[in-house]
Amino acid sequence: MRVPAPGLPTRVTIHEVGPRDGLQNEKAVVPTEVKAEFVHRLADAGLTTVEATSLVRPEWVPQLADAERLYPLLGDLTGVELPVLVPNERGLDRALALGVRRIAVFGSVTESFARRNLNRTVDESLAMFAPVVARARAEGIAVRGYLSMCFGDPWEGPVPIAGVVSVAQRLYAMGCDQLSLGDTIGVATPGQVHALLTEINEAGVPTAALAVHFHDTYGQALANTLAALEHGVTTVDASAGGLGGCPYAKSATGNLATEDLVWMLQGLGIETGVDLGRLAATSVWLARQLGRPSPSRTVRALNPPEPEPAPEPED
Ligand code: MG
Repeated sequence: MRVPAPGLPTRVTIHEVGPRDGLQNEKAVVPTEVKAEFVHRLADAGLTTVEATSLVRPEWVPQLADAERLYPLLGDLTGVELPVLVPNERGLDRALALGVRRIAVFGSVTESFARRNLNRTVDESLAMFAPVVARARAEGIAVRGYLSMCFGDPWEGPVPIAGVVSVAQRLYAMGCDQLSLGDTIGVATPGQVHALLTEINEAGVPTAALAVHFHDTYGQALANTLAALEHGVTTVDASAGGLGGCPYAKSATGNLATEDLVWMLQGLGIETGVDLGRLAATSVWLARQLGRPSPSRTVRALNPPEPEPAPEPED
């Protein structure tokens, strides 16, 4: 049943990260043709922004090593943004060769994660992104800046807001038109979300330039999303079927499932353009390819497992 709540946006753009953030963190390597079908199914379900793949060095992320074969298979998709992750200028060269129109750079707020994920300090990683962002903008390419570990870090514990604000300011000043604030290990609670968004606004980055990226490790992803919507955020990252574990929190749930998000937004009467039934069917289909069920509660509720056949009577 649709019952709007006061103070929320009327429309939300879902930034679907399943094919990139999801598959990157799955053990199984999915064949290129299956990935292409996955992206097409997501577009059929009404998603208009689907992060397609990553142009990091193939040996870093073998799950996404087929970007050059995958991207051309998506060329028939019109009206769908297909951003790709780009770590450096070499990655940008590859993106330009593929005709990519939107890219994302991935920064860390904490030194520990910058070191582990990028083998650089926070300052060095921002220095690496600066020429990427400048060249992309000169080519008319939109650039999203990811900020990892905005609320907590597995090595450093709670993350001070001032550090997040500083990285956000610098990526925005560099020319990123959208910043995605990531709760990479899923520890945030809604009050933290309000506090961080407020301080980022006060530092000069408007809410219109902000997206949120929550993980459901402690079951807080939707509560945190609602807090962000109350603040005025209208772009929310999610992964179809909850695809992608969290490599830094063993046995934890990973990305917020797109279906769980759509269920809440539909109930609130917020437009997304997404057909929930088609989306959930896509996640069931992909789960079969991966050989494990989707962790999304909404996917499971809409597609209850078939009852086991009764055993044959023995005589
Ligand atoms: Mg994620």
